[in-house]
Formats: sequence, structure tokens, C-alpha cells
Amino acid sequence: MATIPAAAESTGQDFRPLIHSLSKAEMAAVMSSLGEPPYRAKQVWEWLYIKLATEWMAMSNLPLGLRERLEDDFSICPAAIAARSAETSGTEKLLVRMRDGECVEEVLIPAPDRKTVCISSQVGCRFRCAFCASGQAGFRRNLETGEIVAQVLLAARIWAGRPSHVVFMGIGEPLDNYDNVLKAIRIINDQNGIGIGARKITISTSGIIPAMERLAGEGIQVELSVSLHAPTQELRSRLMPVGRLYPLDQLISACRSYFEKTKRLITFEYVLIRNINDQPTHAKMLCRLLGDFPCRVNLLLLSPVPEFKAESSSQDAARMFVKTLAKASINATLRTPRGLSVNAACGQLRSSHADNAASAS
Ligand code: SAH
Repeated sequence: MATIPAAAESTGQDFRPLIHSLSKAEMAAVMSSLGEPPYRAKQVWEWLYIKLATEWMAMSNLPLGLRERLEDDFSICPAAIAARSAETSGTEKLLVRMRDGECVEEVLIPAPDRKTVCISSQVGCRFRCAFCASGQAGFRRNLETGEIVAQVLLAARIWAGRPSHVVFMGIGEPLDNYDNVLKAIRIINDQNGIGIGARKITISTSGIIPAMERLAGEGIQVELSVSLHAPTQELRSRLMPVGRLYPLDQLISACRSYFEKTKRLITFEYVLIRNINDQPTHAKMLCRLLGDFPCRVNLLLLSPVPEFKAESSSQDAARMFVKTLAKASINATLRTPRGLSVNAACGQLRSSHADNAASAS
């Protein structure tokens, strides 16, 4: 039986549970506990996820008394836009403020054939990859389900239409906030709501093996990206300390098992860092590591991060790297980091905002 979040307390700050954190079953349970017929749950779901309502009072086909009761019991405002920065390409980065003042980032990436939103799963990150801005200020908290869903809804409002693709490549490690992320994915995926196909939702992970094993058993067809960034255990664990906990050989075995179980191709992300992991020898070691494993490799150029004293690879080095992989029949593409130029890498808008807030106070 679905558990219903506790009712609101009136203590100044908004402690009402978020309506967007409720699964469909939980929404039905709420309506039934209020003595309402089951179709009310469907009506509210449509208001939230099809009509993108931002106020309880707008739900004109619900009786006024029910709207008032729902307003007392649940918040319909999980997040607000605190800052926006746009590029000429149409890519836009949002700083999204939650009810407790914590902020995360999301990036809206429109293209002729798709509208991708890149969302965050945590405030900060525990994993402190050397080249990533997200973990530099440490970990604050997990995002709630409704706060994750809210980022997709903000994009849908800005675009006046739902995104076609959702990628968990903003701040945080989605598999370190497993339950809330999976619950949010089921809400985003719901065909009577936002309706984004599971295959158009990508989880990117730094390689949390137990969570990857769990994900393989979910029976949901999401895409999985694994941040690899190095072809050896030694180099990888220097760039990504999480590699000490989940070593490279075990990670590759876990990827193989994931593929065998789900038949879904994994994409490996590899950020090219000048003279550190972008030499021909690294490319060859990567070919050996992946061997004949059916997968894709996404190469991308490092976005500068002040705390990480290294540069992006040259275009030539990047092209050579792709060539070496292609020769070994590895499906590799060099991605241009759209959305990362003006706004820089993952986590940087949030950290620059925190800097501004600190210098203003
Ligand atoms: N924690 C997850 C998802 C968030 S990061 C993960 O590690 O996959 C999303 C992607 O952005 C990851 O592949 C990450 O390695 C990459 N990234 C982080 N900082 C970057 C930077 N400075 N330049 C380029 N890519 C970066």
C-alpha cells in the first residue's frame, strides 16, 4: 500500500510535502483518503503534468473544497528559477532554487530534431572528480523526487512543450540518489502525463556498481552512460576517486553484465584532458580495455574548471583519439560541448552563484 506523506505544518517555512513527489499510486491513495472518487487522481495528474498547472486554484474542474484541502496539504511549487543565462545557440542554463534556498542547475539544449534538458539529481556531489565543478563545494543533500520532476516541468514551460530527451548530467550522482531518481523517471515517463519515453531518458553515472546492478533489474529501458575518463585503474582513480571504491576491471565487468541482462548499449563518457588522458597510448589502452564489448564511446573536450589546473585536448589530439578507436571498430564520437561554453562545466553556475552570494554578504 502506498504511503501518504504527512500533512502540512504551519511553521513559516513551507514544509508541506511536494505534490510532484507522489507516484500515481500515492496520488490515488491521497484521493481515496479524502473520500474522493478515483477519477480525481487522474484529473490532478493531468493538471500537473499535461496542463502544467502552478496553482491549485487553477484546477477548475475540481470542487473548491478539494482544491483548498489540497492546497493546505501539498505544495505545488517545488522550485523557482533564480537565474538564467543564454547562449546564441539557444542553449540556456538555469539556476533553480528549491524551497529551502538550495540551488541546482539545469541546461536546456534545443536542436532542430530534439529538445534535451540536462537535469541535476543532488545538491552538490560526494564524488569529487578532479575535473568537475559539482563536487568542489561538497555534498549538501539529495533532491526529492518532486524537485527532480520540477526541472523537467520548468523546461516544458519555457519551451511551451515537453522536452524530447532528459539527461541526468547536471549536478550530482543520480545512482547515489537512486530511489528518488527512479521514482522521478517513472513520473516523467508516464504516458498519461509528461510522457517522455524511457529510451529518451539517460542516467549518467560515475560507476556505482551496486546501483548499476539494481538498475539492470528494474525492467525500465533507460539509457545508461558511464563516466570512464581513463583507460587504467591508476589514472582513473586519480581523476575520479570513486574508482578506488569501484575499480575499473570490476566496473567493466558490471557494464558487461548490465548489457547481457538488459541488451541496452552502454555509452562511455570520456573527457579529453591535454597530456593527461588524451595521448595515443591512452587511446590504445582504451581499445584494449573495451575489446569487443558492444558499446558507444562519447568523447568530449574538457570544459575549464578553475580548481583543476589542466587544459582541454587540442582538436588534433581529439581527432587522433577518435581515429584510433574507430580503427579498433569502437563506435566513438567527438561531441561538441553545447551549453558548456558560456556557462562552463557542470556545477559552475551554482558555484559562481555561491561565490557572488558570499561576496555580497
Ligand atoms: N555524476 C554523474 C553525472 C553528472 S556529470 C557522472 O559522473 O556521470 C555528467 C558528465 O559531465 C560526466 O560524464 C562528467 O564526467 C562530465 N563532466 C564533469 N565535469 C566536466 C568538465 N569540466 N568538462 C567536461 N565534462 C565534464
